Order: sequence, then C-alpha cells, then structure tokens
Amino acid sequence: MNNIYGQTMEELETYLKAQNFPKFYGKEIYTWLYDKKIETIEEASNLSLTLRKKLQEDFSFAKPTILECQKGKEVSKYLFRLADKEHIEAVLMEHDYGLSLCISSQVGCNMGCKFCESGRRKKVRNLEAHEMVLQILEIEKACGKRISHVVIMGIGEPFDNYENITKLIAIINHEKGLHIGARHITVSTCGIVPKIAAFMDFPYQVNLAISLHAPNDALRQEIMPIAKVYSLEELMTALKEYVKKTNRRLTFEYILLDDVNDHEKEAKELVQLLKGMNAYVNLIPYNETTHLQYKRSKPLTIAKFYDILKKNGICVTIRREFGGTISAACGQLRSEKEEI
Ligand code: SAH
Repeated sequence: MNNIYGQTMEELETYLKAQNFPKFYGKEIYTWLYDKKIETIEEASNLSLTLRKKLQEDFSFAKPTILECQKGKEVSKYLFRLADKEHIEAVLMEHDYGLSLCISSQVGCNMGCKFCESGRRKKVRNLEAHEMVLQILEIEKACGKRISHVVIMGIGEPFDNYENITKLIAIINHEKGLHIGARHITVSTCGIVPKIAAFMDFPYQVNLAISLHAPNDALRQEIMPIAKVYSLEELMTALKEYVKKTNRRLTFEYILLDDVNDHEKEAKELVQLLKGMNAYVNLIPYNETTHLQYKRSKPLTIAKFYDILKKNGICVTIRREFGGTISAACGQLRSEKEEI
C-alpha cells in the first residue's frame, strides 16, 4: 500500500480524479498533512467522511519512530526506526539563517568510501520518498520549529535512489507541502555521472554538492571506489555541462584526511582542476570514528591547504564543526545502536 506522505501533488490529484473526487482536495490534504501536521486523517475535519474513509483504505499513514535524540549545543541527532525495524539517522543544525536538516537516503550504502562510517554497512534498501519526507516532518513536530533547509547528505547515496529523491524534492518544495525553497535543498553525491546528466533536466533549482575528496584519479580510486567506475575527467566533463546548462554554482566537498589528501601537492592539483569553474570548495575537517583508521588533518595543514586555494582564486570555506561531541559522523549513531 502506498504511503500518503510519499504522494506528489500530481499523484494525489490523479488518484482523486480516478476516485471521482474533485482534484482540488489534493491541496486540502497537503495542508492537513504538512501545515496542520495531523496525526490521523480523522482530524481533517473539512474533508467528507467518505473521502477520509477512502484515504484510510487506500493509503498507509505509518510513520517512522524517533527512537533517540542526542542533543548537542547547536546540533541534535535523531535516530529513527523504520517499519521494517531498520535504523537511519538525521542531523538537525542551527544556523543563523535557520534550521537545516541532514537526512538519510538509504539504509546502508554501496559506495564503499574508505573513510565513511555509513559505508561499512552495505546497502539494505533504498528509502521510499515518504521515509525521507517524514524525517523532516517528524523532527519539525519534535522540535516545534520550522526546518528551512534540507541537505541529502546523511546515510546513503542519493543518486543511487534517484527516483525517490526527485519525488521527495517535489513533495517538500510544494507550496502546500513543507514549502522548502529549492535553493534551500542540497543533494550531495559521490559522483554518479549518468545521474548528474539526468539531474540537469530536473526542473527544480536545487543545489548540487560533489564529494570530491581527491584531485587525481589514483588517489580518488584509493579512497572512493566509485572513482574506478567514473574517471575524474568524465566527472568534470559532466559537471561543466551541468553548470553550463543550469547556470547553478556547484559545491565541492573535500574531507581533509591526515597525510592522505592534505599535502601542498593535492591543494595545487585541486586549483588546476577547478580553476575557472562556477564552484566553491567546502573543506571538511574529518570526523574520526572508532572503526576506521583515518585521522583528521592538523589545524596548520588545514590552514595551509585553505590558503593555497584562496590565493589561487578558488572560493573556499572550511566547514563549521558541529558534531564532534555527539557521534555526528554519518552512520555513527546507527553503528552504536546496532553494534556493527
Ligand atoms: N553519498 C553522498 C552523501 C552522503 S555522505 C556523498 O558521497 O556525497 C555526505 C558527506 O559526508 C560526503 O561528502 C562524505 O564524503 C562525507 N563524510 C563521510 N564520512 C565522513 C566523516 N567521517 N567525516 C566527515 N565527513 C564525512
């Protein structure tokens, strides 16, 4: 049975029409679900009893449960249990511009990045659109505040779950849905080239972030298996095309790993790779985890790396640190829970 929270407006209207209900009820239903945030459809008092009964019969209204919330100073981490007892996480961050939520897109992940905690567990399944929508909605309810920004950067590779990701964006962007501006939504990918090509034609102005982490094929292949499938040249060609076609600025994420990808050599290679592109680099101090051997770069190395990019005209920022005290590296809370 389809879950009501995974229905795009278009799908809902098609359903209503097929059932001989006026299609404008679609907007009413969205208002009840996302604005009034009802728990059961019985609360939707301006919908006829017949429609409420029909919706109840035809859709599931099930929600994932928040099992645990670890609260830090400006960041809270939520652990969810899904209907099939799998666990996923979402991280809420307070910025001066509003609340931003990092959501998961899969249970486990098949990309196998060597430094990543989530990837230690293989993909079990994709998250359905409703399971992503409900991470946002349930956390809004739990914290009593509006989430203004969403980043799809939690557990999983969003472009390995392309169809559900695009549905999710349509639902949360809708003005009667959570009404999160497209420019406030960011999809982060390790670089699945064919999906980057498809995303160029996706009609929402969302942001794209690329997990680059290395400026040459040899090093990238060492830490990110996806680099063996798509070379940097193929990746950069697709991205240049993406920028040309969409006129949007790209974000490159670059985790700094001690003595792996943080030398002057890589900084200079990165400059060469990105020079002239409409892009900016987000340098990420690595969150060390107990299971993996990688270490965070030293503060001085991070500063040097930053300076080389800056002096060579690359827009660069160092990611503000949030998670240090609350196992915020992707997948850490889930690992603790499941002891794997
Ligand atoms: N699969 C997608 C999205 C999930 S990972 C992607 O690769 O972009 C989100 C980001 O967190 C990626 O840039 C990833 O490389 C990074 N990341 C993974 N483990 C990390 C850690 N321990 N510390 C800091 N960043 C990490």
